[in-house]
Amino acid sequence: MTDIKSMNLAEMSAYFKELGEPAFRARQVFQWLHRGVSSFDEMTNLSKALREKLAAACVLCPPRVERRQVSAQDGTIKYLWRLGDGNCIETVLMRYHHGNTVCISSQVGCRMGCAFCASTLGGKIRDLTPAEMVDQVLFTQLDSGVPVSNIVLMGIGEPLDNFDTVLRFLELVNSPEGLNIGMRHISLSTCGLTEKIDKLADYQLQLTLSVSLHAPDDETRSRIMPVNRGIGVEQLFAACRRYFEKTGRRISYEYAMIDGVNDADWQADLLARHLKGTPGHVNLIPLNHVEESPLKPSRRVAAFQKRLESHGVTATVRRKLGGDIDASCGQLRRKQIQGQL
Ligand code: SAH
Repeated sequence: MTDIKSMNLAEMSAYFKELGEPAFRARQVFQWLHRGVSSFDEMTNLSKALREKLAAACVLCPPRVERRQVSAQDGTIKYLWRLGDGNCIETVLMRYHHGNTVCISSQVGCRMGCAFCASTLGGKIRDLTPAEMVDQVLFTQLDSGVPVSNIVLMGIGEPLDNFDTVLRFLELVNSPEGLNIGMRHISLSTCGLTEKIDKLADYQLQLTLSVSLHAPDDETRSRIMPVNRGIGVEQLFAACRRYFEKTGRRISYEYAMIDGVNDADWQADLLARHLKGTPGHVNLIPLNHVEESPLKPSRRVAAFQKRLESHGVTATVRRKLGGDIDASCGQLRRKQIQGQL
């Protein structure tokens, strides 16, 4: 079966040519698909014969809402979607002043093994397809009735570990024939795969790159993020500097504050030293406690922020949304797998 929804317009045009159909059909079908139809039968400007031909040759398998949790505190909605093969993934819709933002997953599970993260507890099952990534945006929008203006790739999975799919996803949601979401409204978060950061830089995209740093020294970072055992902090910052030089885009550093692990003043000082000379922004995140983990939220968030600012580093504390609905990475999927829902 053909995964027609993962195709870009050029591929779709070639596909229709092969079917002996005129080129404008590709544009029509592309538009229907990216409006979120659930079957070819809804494509009313195509002949019945063509709709049947497509239904026989192509998969179109919209995700089903397995669970929907709405935060009573702030209106954040968390979706647990059931995919065609039975796997589940999460998407979160957050309401911000600057626009409604959807946080999407890039893989079923994750193989990066970060000590504080629920998404990685069962390892990686598989990569998502471009269509499955686009569907998270489309069907969150359709189900909630809330128009989405921003996308963050900060859900389950490591986006740069599914590089080609993520690039295609960006192309699809950016397409004027599709969701038409501008690159400046998209953020991509990575645990720091430097080769892929270099590769991404070559595309000169206007998106925001977020690097999940969480510690400025190798000892601490290797302890909580296994990826650091192969790619150390110096190497990571060198890649970040190259990225900035090539794209002119300021990197945002994620820093989940963990009690007694990464919240000491000397770590703020060291972080500031790494950032010297390259503009960057630090996002301090109050750690979300994960049941399986002994790590606790830091009580020094404000002090750490002050210390960074005393070195001239801009640091903001991320507002916590959806605390009452397991909104952070992987917690809902985890409960589902363990039969706790
Ligand atoms: N794999 C990518 C994107 C997914 S995680 C990455 O590592 O960036 C999205 C962000 O949430 C990352 O910064 C991640 O480190 C952070 N995160 C994961 N678990 C968390 C927790 N329990 N509390 C706070 N932040 C967490």
